[in-house]
Amino acid sequence: MAITPRRAVILAVGSELTTGETRDTNGGDLAADLSRLGVHVIRIELLPDELDAAATAIRRAIDDADLVVTTGGLGPTPDDLTREALAAALGLTPAVDADLERQLVRLFERRGARMPETNRKQAWLVPGAEALPNAHGTAPGWWLEHDGTLLVTLPGPPRELQPMWREGVLPRLRARGLGAEVAVRTLRLTGIGESYVVEALGEAMLRASNPVVATYARPDAVDVRITARPEPGRDGTPDRPAAELLAEAERRVREALGAHVFATDDETWPEALGRRLGTRRVATWEHGTGGLLAATLAGAPWFLHGDVAGEAPPATPHDAQAAPADRVRTAAETLTASTGAEAALAVEARLRDGDTLVDIAVLVDGTMRTERRTVFLAGEQGRRRAALAACAALWEALGSAPVS
Ligand code: ATP
Ligand code: MG
Repeated sequence: MAITPRRAVILAVGSELTTGETRDTNGGDLAADLSRLGVHVIRIELLPDELDAAATAIRRAIDDADLVVTTGGLGPTPDDLTREALAAALGLTPAVDADLERQLVRLFERRGARMPETNRKQAWLVPGAEALPNAHGTAPGWWLEHDGTLLVTLPGPPRELQPMWREGVLPRLRARGLGAEVAVRTLRLTGIGESYVVEALGEAMLRASNPVVATYARPDAVDVRITARPEPGRDGTPDRPAAELLAEAERRVREALGAHVFATDDETWPEALGRRLGTRRVATWEHGTGGLLAATLAGAPWFLHGDVAGEAPPATPHDAQAAPADRVRTAAETLTASTGAEAALAVEARLRDGDTLVDIAVLVDGTMRTERRTVFLAGEQGRRRAALAACAALWEALGSAPVS
C-alpha cells in the first residue's frame, strides 16, 4: 500500500557539512516544504562521508519515522557512500540498472567523453527502488518504499536537488493527499517584540497541538504562524475541518494583537503599505541607510521618488539627547513641495555605540509625525532595520490618517 508519511527525518550527508566548510541549506529547505505539507520533521542530522555512520543513522531514522530523506553522497567518488549506506541499512544488494547505465553512457557520449568506471555506481538501484531523473547532473535520486517507510535519496548540490524535489518528489507526496487537509496562515506583526507577542497570546495557545500557533522573530516582522489540521470528532461530535479551526485561532490572535498585524502570509511591506495608501503616492529621503529604503520600495506603483544621501556621521552624545533631527522634518517638507507626493517619508540612521539611532519623519496629507527609535544593531543590519522602521512608521501614520 502506498505510504502517506507523517513523520520525517532528514539526513544531510557530507564531510564538508560536519567540518563546517559548507553550511547545510538542503535540510532547512526540505523541512520547510514538508512542514507545509503537514509532515512533522522530527530531526535534521548532518553526517560525515562514513559508511557506518550513515548506515546507522538511516536505520535509526527508519525506526523513528515513516519518511527518510537523504541529501548528498551520490557522486561517483569512493567517499560518496549514501547508496552503499542505504543498501546496508536495509540489507539489500544494489545492482546496475541497464536503462540507467545506457542513459549515463549516452550523457558522457554527448559531452564527447568515455564514462569513467567510477561513475557506474550512479546507475545502481536496489530492489524496489525507482530512479528520480536528474536534469542537472549525472546522479539520479532514489524513491523506495520499504516495509512501511518511504526513503527518498537526493543529490547534494542544491541546483540538482531542488528540481528533483519539486518535480519528482513533492507532486507524488501531494498526490497522496499530503497538504490538502492542512490550513496555514501567517500573521505578520510590527511595532511589538516577540516576547510581548508571546505574552499576549498566552501559554495555552502556544502549547496547543492543534492548531499549532508559533512565533518567529524575523528581520522585517514578528510572524505568528497558525497551522491547523482537521480534528476528528469524538463521541458523536462531528469532525472539525482545518479551515474552521484556523479561522477561530486567527480571530483570537487578531483580538489580542490585531493593531500590530500589517500583512498576512507572503505579503511584503510594499504590498501592505499599498493597501493603506489608497491613491496616495510616496516620496522618500534617506541618509545613512545606503539606499535600502528605496530598494525596499522599488517597484511599488505608488513609489514616486527616492532621494539617497550618503553616509551619515555617527551620533554625538548631544544628538542622542536632542529631539528627532530637524533634518528629517525638513527633508519631508521639501520632498512634498518638490515632488507633489501626497506622502513623504524621511529617515536618518546614525551609529551610536554599536547601535543605530534612527530618526524618522512622516508627512501624510499635511500632518507631520516624527519619531526616534534605537535599533540594537550596527552596520548593514542596522541600516536594513532602519529602512524597515521607516516602512513601519509610514504604515502607522497611515493607520491614523483617513483613507484616501
Ligand atoms: P556530486 O555528484 O556533486 O559529488 P553529491 O550528491 O555527491 O554530488 P556532495 O558531494 O555531498 O553531493 O555535495 C556536493 C556539493 O553540494 C557540496 O560541495 C556542496 O557545495 C553542496 N551541498 C552538499 N550538501 C549540501 C547541503 N546539505 N546543503 C547545501 N549544500 C550542499
Ligand atoms: Mg560528492
